[in-house]
Amino acid sequence: MLNLILFGAPGAGKGTQAELLIKTFGLIHISTGELLRAEIKNGTELGKKAKKFMDNGNLVPDELVIDVIKNKLNSCQNVKGFVFDGFPRTVAQAEALDELLCKNCMSISGMLSLEVEKQELIRRLIGRGLKYGRIDDQEQSVIEYRINVYNEKTLPLIEYYKKQGKHYGISGKGSIQDIADRLKAVVEKL
Ligand code: AMP
Repeated sequence: MLNLILFGAPGAGKGTQAELLIKTFGLIHISTGELLRAEIKNGTELGKKAKKFMDNGNLVPDELVIDVIKNKLNSCQNVKGFVFDGFPRTVAQAEALDELLCKNCMSISGMLSLEVEKQELIRRLIGRGLKYGRIDDQEQSVIEYRINVYNEKTLPLIEYYKKQGKHYGISGKGSIQDIADRLKAVVEKL
């Protein structure tokens, strides 16, 4: 199985590149942000709890996110592998993911970290807010806050996966196709 983590700050291009990776390698896309937005749309209890964190740019508590991942993994049997997008975002989530995969005789193949400068992230997120109307993409203060949360809580995961020899840094600059080509070249060697 090929289990990839597509890692990077908000606006790094994870969603766009995940869509291309799943097509190229026949994988299942798991975006916790999308799964949580679906819970909100369906008016579930979990969605109601998650919404207030998401609107303010905070991380949703680990227990809720891990439950979402467990349900999704259980519903996908006999697949070639997964692209995790926006998950894990904390060390506790990474540990829970390792444990969950291990129980099912799976493991992470590689963590692909898209590297993009802060000013470019802000430019892309403001553009996305205008295009798709996501509440958390509309205010520069919330965007900057999310980038700070990423630096504080999520960036330490680079060390976590480096220790396992699974971290691959990839430049997230340039055209969508250029970035996709760089990712493909790394994944083909895994
Ligand atoms: P995203 O679509 O990945 O940008 O996620 C949007 C929002 O959903 C984030 O700002 C968080 O509030 C929440 N979220 C998504 N994934 C996670 C996660 N793995 N852990 C905690 N919160 C998450």
